[in-house]
Amino acid sequence: MCGIVAYLGEKCAQPILIEGLKRLEYRGYDSAGVALLDGGAIRIKKTSGRINALEAILDEPRTEDTLGLGHTRWATHGEPNEINAHPHPDYTGKIAIVHNGIIENYGTLKTWLQNEGVKFLSDTDTEVIANLIGYFYATGDGSEESKQCDGQTKFEWAVQRALRELHGTYGLGILCADFPNILIGAKKGSPLILGVGDGEYILASDAAAIVEHTTQAVYLADNEMVTISPGGFHTKTIDNVPITKELSEIEFSLEQIELGGFEHHMLKEIFEQPKALTTCMGGRIDAQNGRIKLGGIDSYLRELTRTKHLILTACGTAWHAGLVGEFLFEQLARIPTETEYASEFRYRNPIIEDGTVVVCISQSGETADTLAAVEQAKERGATVLGIVNVVGSSIARATDAGVYLHAGPEIGVASTKAFTAQVAVLTMLAVELGRRRHISSNEATGHIKELAQIPDKISRILEQSDHIKQIAAANAGQENWLFLGRGFNYPVALEGALKLKEISYIHAEGLPAAEMKHGPIALIVDAMPTVFIATAGPQYNKIMGNIAEVRARGGKTIIIATEGDENIKQHADHLITVPDAPEILQPMLTVLPLQLLAYHAAMLRGHDVDKPRNLAKSVTVE
Ligand code: GLU
Repeated sequence: MCGIVAYLGEKCAQPILIEGLKRLEYRGYDSAGVALLDGGAIRIKKTSGRINALEAILDEPRTEDTLGLGHTRWATHGEPNEINAHPHPDYTGKIAIVHNGIIENYGTLKTWLQNEGVKFLSDTDTEVIANLIGYFYATGDGSEESKQCDGQTKFEWAVQRALRELHGTYGLGILCADFPNILIGAKKGSPLILGVGDGEYILASDAAAIVEHTTQAVYLADNEMVTISPGGFHTKTIDNVPITKELSEIEFSLEQIELGGFEHHMLKEIFEQPKALTTCMGGRIDAQNGRIKLGGIDSYLRELTRTKHLILTACGTAWHAGLVGEFLFEQLARIPTETEYASEFRYRNPIIEDGTVVVCISQSGETADTLAAVEQAKERGATVLGIVNVVGSSIARATDAGVYLHAGPEIGVASTKAFTAQVAVLTMLAVELGRRRHISSNEATGHIKELAQIPDKISRILEQSDHIKQIAAANAGQENWLFLGRGFNYPVALEGALKLKEISYIHAEGLPAAEMKHGPIALIVDAMPTVFIATAGPQYNKIMGNIAEVRARGGKTIIIATEGDENIKQHADHLITVPDAPEILQPMLTVLPLQLLAYHAAMLRGHDVDKPRNLAKSVTVE
């Protein structure tokens, strides 16, 4: 959440910042701003609204402005108005900052600074950081150290001194009017990457704002800062200990983050799923010999085979994928498994004993709660694995080992291809552990062969997009929907409801189908749509009963069924079919119609699918 981009180089900074902000806009889009160093002063332009609103108020770019900060905000503290938009200047006018994160002790620090005579303009937690840096830069802290440093060293010292006071999370870009050639970045708990180009540097929250300029990057770790000047950059901890950082290659290209003819990133990503899953499974499954190889966790396989207790932890859509994983690990590998919301797990007193393995799932690899869950599990001595999409992300680096999704960048705020890829990775892992613990090689080989066919089956579902659009059109006016599934399709029902809520703002509930009778059935009124996942499987007859119960009360049924199921037609107001597959693999198919339903419903209701209200990609705040 929040997109930060900062530029230092030889080119005119303003258009580069704006281009970078557009690439990061999926991280937040309630207000935006830029700061440029103008001679000895900092010039800030900011506004509520999106990047195009910012563009409308900008001055003509000036070629001599080659250093600047940009920000697109997802408000946590203070409404999304112009004053609260970033960049934030300090009270002396010397410092300007952009921030991603939350400062938990901002109240105490604000009171202290106010008692020192510092005036605040905004309601944000961020302004405290700007003023704290400004305060220490202007007055020092009375220590010998502060008296001795001057010039650039003083600027760096003031940043470090301020950061050491903060509790919470930050990714920061910082300018000082006295140093028109210096840009400082710092990170704790929020992502920050430095792109290192030819005579230019781009500091950004994620690689999407960097790839246009360079593929060489330095990933800052927590409590690290970087000082960048035209001659180069140096990294140190916020305690002033120098550290050497390696350059890494950013592994995706510009084309992958562009729309490529699609109207929205979400639709593009829905249609990319056959390819994303092919890449995700490519080189990992050997359908002929019935083998699975997950390179990233090779050295942990023996330990994993002996797992006594598996905890899958994640948030949102990734949590739904985790729930599918729970069913898979229990069924195929007979490992007792729990799926935990990372935001709850991190604050509980989880039981982690010898033989407990914690698997953290996050598309971005930056989800704040999931990252905290990683730390919590590590502290308690668990082996911690990651299933993430973004290479080099914080969770990827913090875990002992892991498996990348290789699904390609996901820009759509509503996650789609990451879900199916997460389920694919969990399935591969469960089948491999199952083969080692519980199921026969023959059974494992059967699953692997079926797994290899999933991408083609997804393509067949995508062909029904227009048909699904018609179903969405017939129901998009309804304000309440239910999504029901059983067994492996119960997590899919949850995911279907979440997708609809996220982008169409229709109230939806996902439930295990039988639970409907214990309360939600009271909601069913004439024409209210209930989406049933009623594919072939052990609970088919049971869900047919639930369908009858809804119809008896005048509810409308949208049924996801297996191709060739003639019987079900008479019970469906609307029918969508998916190719046949074993129950354990169905979530990777049955979720597709639900993604498309949500997409079309949102479009028909006139919403901006890639920028849903109140949401942003990559939840880097708690
Ligand atoms: N807490 C800051 C604000 O509300 C930054 C928010 C964020 O990183 O999402 O402006």
